[in-house]
Amino acid sequence: MPKKVRVGVLALQGDFREHVESLQRAGVEAVEVRLPAQLKGLDGLIIPGGESTTILRLIDIFKFREPIIDFIRGGGPLWGTCAGMIVVAQKATDLTRPTLGLINVSVCRNAFGRQVDSFEEDLTIAAGDFAQREKPFHAVFIRAPVIEETGAAVEVLARLPNGAPVAARRGKVLVTAFHPELTPDLRFHEFFLGFSAMKE
Ligand code: GLN
Repeated sequence: MPKKVRVGVLALQGDFREHVESLQRAGVEAVEVRLPAQLKGLDGLIIPGGESTTILRLIDIFKFREPIIDFIRGGGPLWGTCAGMIVVAQKATDLTRPTLGLINVSVCRNAFGRQVDSFEEDLTIAAGDFAQREKPFHAVFIRAPVIEETGAAVEVLARLPNGAPVAARRGKVLVTAFHPELTPDLRFHEFFLGFSAMKE
């Protein structure tokens, strides 16, 4: 019998349970990752939304920084949503700790200001292998960051109507400023699950 795909969700803070539920609905095994040793053998890692300052602090307290970086260097797929995108970015505004620097994007935290804390937008996803791409993806943004700069080999997958990039990918690292785990649409989770079958 083929081995069942197992994806971890970093469960230090934030909406990791929603990602676990989405992964289970997508038919894979989901693991709440609370200790670095649990990264071993995973087919992917999701860093959820929440508060990036808290997640980064807990990453250091629980000594996750090197193990996560090693997991990605070893070819493990990684997806950061919202606060998770900030955590994995090369650079982010308004933080006291360094980010993990796993994808060459610069992000601006809380980019939409206090007036527009949350909003929803139908996005067109520009990825050849994104299922049913003719149907827009209903994206939920909550005190969301935005991508300000993208480096070499980073593909922008979605933009807001004003042109601001809100989803990007480089190799097996995916970032979204919004929360696909809060909507029933599983296409982003399925898209991410496809990375584990990719060769380098
Ligand atoms: N505003 C949060 C931060 O800067 C992110 C919000 C979220 O993950 N929904 O970390």
